[in-house]
Amino acid sequence: MATRNVDYLLIGGGLACANCARWLREEGADGEILLVGREPDPPYNRPDCSKGYLRGEQTRAEPMFRPEEWWSQQKIELLTRTSVVGLDVDSRTARLSNKDEVSFGKALLATGANVRRLNVSGCELEQIHYLRTLGNADAIREGVADAQEVVLIGGSYIGCEVAASLTLLGKHATIVMQEQATLERGFGQRAGRFFQELLESHGVQVHGADELERFEGEGRVARVITRGGLELAADAVVIGAGVSPDVQLAQKAGLQIGEGGGVRCSSRLESSVSGVFAAGDMCEYESVVHGGISLRVEHWDVAFNHGKTAALNMLGRDVPHEVVPYFYSVLGDWGELEYVGPAREWDQELVRGSFEDGSFTNWYLKDGAVKAALTWGRSDDLEHARRLIVDGRALDPRQQAALADLDSDLAAVGS
Ligand SMILES: Cc1cc2nc3c(=O)[nH]c(=O)nc-3n(C[C@H](O)[C@H](O)[C@H](O)COP(=O)(O)OP(=O)(O)OC[C@H]3O[C@@H](n4cnc5c(N)ncnc54)[C@H](O)[C@@H]3O)c2cc1C
Repeated sequence: MATRNVDYLLIGGGLACANCARWLREEGADGEILLVGREPDPPYNRPDCSKGYLRGEQTRAEPMFRPEEWWSQQKIELLTRTSVVGLDVDSRTARLSNKDEVSFGKALLATGANVRRLNVSGCELEQIHYLRTLGNADAIREGVADAQEVVLIGGSYIGCEVAASLTLLGKHATIVMQEQATLERGFGQRAGRFFQELLESHGVQVHGADELERFEGEGRVARVITRGGLELAADAVVIGAGVSPDVQLAQKAGLQIGEGGGVRCSSRLESSVSGVFAAGDMCEYESVVHGGISLRVEHWDVAFNHGKTAALNMLGRDVPHEVVPYFYSVLGDWGELEYVGPAREWDQELVRGSFEDGSFTNWYLKDGAVKAALTWGRSDDLEHARRLIVDGRALDPRQQAALADLDSDLAAVGS
């Protein structure tokens, strides 16, 4: 027997849920909205955890999605420190960790992702950190206060951003990674080398084509030992070894899971159960802008825009999610990369501008068609990249040459 009823139950308490709640209200939902989240904080912008908040430049309030009073003004009920522990999609009820039972009209699952943990010898030592929450960022900042040497395991977004932030805090950061070059998995070797050289030019040491073997120390970590035989002094370690979508609750509830490990959704972000939607890191949706492939993306802008699309569809608008995925990453105060795509594979890269001058857009093409673009300092090019990705047609050699020619008008390419 349900103890209470709501019209919209939003499960997760991260960005996707928060933006869904906002758009439900903005688009006229007048029913009860309940947002249930496990963390102690109201919804916040997780990217700050590796940037300004980690460096102590932001207060706890600054990363918040909205100020505290906004939630009550919007009549959105927020339950923090509360998990949804069971979901019955037939009876449309959810069990909460506070023992409440809630029946709902429509539900959104946006339970995000969990960090991938590395269970190697010594992993229980103190000062070995993961980074997903504001609380983790607090622990790292405190943990490195007296540290000199910090080792980052992983050369992707978390490893690179944290290395940059800790360098700005005066620490010596060392990255150990499986890749040859930082960030190369998403952007290829040439762009990866650009980012690595930038990090190295600011004093970050990078060891590629290697991996963690074990940690050593007495009580707290003192050394990182790699498979390649390196022994690196470490007063603290931050592991950024990727995440996996948190589909525990969805799976138990019987929702279909896709090949990418997320909750399988239609282009409307509706799961295999009518009236139950998914969004953000754990949502694997049919992407109409990519010809209907199944896509799951772990980035801020996608979670943000998913929240809006889910809200519109919860209100019965029947709209596909048509936003081209956009990612960004900030390396300290040295610059910001931006990307639209994503390209799963490509057979050609064309550069507009130059890596050497630190201002470029790298185009990723497959069979002559633009699949993605990465930029550093040339944000305006991304509008054209979005158009070309959606268009999907192969460009002829003259148009391809124009992509790489700073004197050519991008607006004329593909039109
Ligand atoms: C340190 C860091 C830096 C980042 N920087 C960038 C960046 O620069 N650019 C970029 O594009 N992206 C960045 N990202 C990624 C981006 O933050 C995520 O893609 C985004 O937060 C995903 O939002 P979400 O709402 O899907 O999930 P989340 O933000 O993960 O929120 C999901 C929430 O659901 C909660 N939850 C799970 N299960 C339950 C349950 N059963 N009941 C209740 N609550 C539950 C979780 O505890 C979590 O709080 C960064 C991520 C991190 C961790």
